[in-house]
This record gives sequence, C-alpha cells and structure tokens, in this order.
Amino acid sequence: MKYVTIPVTPFQQNCSLIWCEATKEAAVIDPGGNVERIIERIEKEQLTLTMILLTHGHIDHVGGAKALADLTGVDIIGPHKDDEFWLENLPKQSQNFGFAATEAFVPHRYLEQDDLLHVGHQQLKVLHCPGHTPGHVVFHHQASQLAWVGDVIFRGSIGRTDFPGSSHADLIASITQRLWPLGNDVTFVPGHGPISTVGEERKHNPFVADQLLD
Ligand SMILES: [Zn+2]
Ligand SMILES: [Zn+2]
Repeated sequence: MKYVTIPVTPFQQNCSLIWCEATKEAAVIDPGGNVERIIERIEKEQLTLTMILLTHGHIDHVGGAKALADLTGVDIIGPHKDDEFWLENLPKQSQNFGFAATEAFVPHRYLEQDDLLHVGHQQLKVLHCPGHTPGHVVFHHQASQLAWVGDVIFRGSIGRTDFPGSSHADLIASITQRLWPLGNDVTFVPGHGPISTVGEERKHNPFVADQLLD
C-alpha cells in the first residue's frame, strides 16, 4: 500500500490518501476539509478513488467527507455506529470549533471489529478502538505493517477523553489489547503530528509505555 498524508483543517489533521500500486485504486481516510487539495492530489497521482473511510465522527476528521462523496460518487464507510451521535451533531461541532457550517450525514456503511475492506488488491482490517470516541475505528494493513489510528494514540501522547461518550479506561484497553498485538514493527499514522511505531510507544509513551502499566 502506498500512502501520502495531506494535512487538512486548522487542526492540521492528517488526512491520508492510500492506494494499491497495481490497480491505482485509492481510498481517502479522514477528509476533514480542504476537499480541493485532496482531489488535486488524487489527480496528480492518477488514482481512481473507490471509497472514503472515517476513523471517528469528529469534525476535523469528517468535515469534508460529504462534499468529497458528492463530487466523486464514492461511498462513505465508517466509523462504528457508536459514533452516530457525533455525525448527527456536525452542525453544532462546526459552530463550536469555528469551522464552516457542516451538514450532518449518514455514512453508506458503519464498520465493526474485524471487518475487511479492499482497496484494489490490498486488504485493510478494521479494529474497533473505543475511548476517544465510542465508535472510533483503526485501519490496519498487515502486508505493509501500517495502521491509521486517528485520535487513539499519537507519538508521545494519547487521545483526549474529556468528550461526551469518551472513556479513559476504554482507550487504554483499546491501545493495549487492540494495537499492541499488531506488533512492535507496525508504523502508525495518527490523526495529528508525526508517525511512530508500536514498539517506540511501548517504550517511551508517557501514558501507555509498558513500564507504566505493569
Ligand atoms: Zn478526535
Ligand atoms: Zn482529531
């Protein structure tokens, strides 16, 4: 799987464009906004967009999803249904965070733990990782040891859990029981900031390093 990240919105959210090199079929993960910039990149790489994937319902991750779907005709897939309330209150989120007015939308499909998705010949596995939001999902591409983790974990930090429906205990369980088993060599692309690896965070993350949780 090839990928590039495209920082979008004033929150510099890492929207990822991922694609199968053999077929040039592509997916966009978390198009929070700046839809023109995303489309330009799809055209520059000469890709065929086949789906929009969402990790969770926060506006900086989903604010451009409906516009991108309307322009390209592809389906919006994810997050888990437990984030439905976040998508329903997008108009309120856009007001609260000073974003352009954003309509609520219903994705074409919600995701569940262990769902499999195909981008060309490449397969992504879905991991349900509640905590930051109850319906947060992560996309794991085993063949290239990559995971797109949204706001579950960052380099040196973890997701906020001070939102309605957040749970710190769930977040720690998601990280240690769903992400750690992927293996130390897995590189993850977080929703904000630089990439890291599972091994690096198990050693040095000030919230979830192994020696802190034992
Ligand atoms: Zn978030
Ligand atoms: Zn975010």
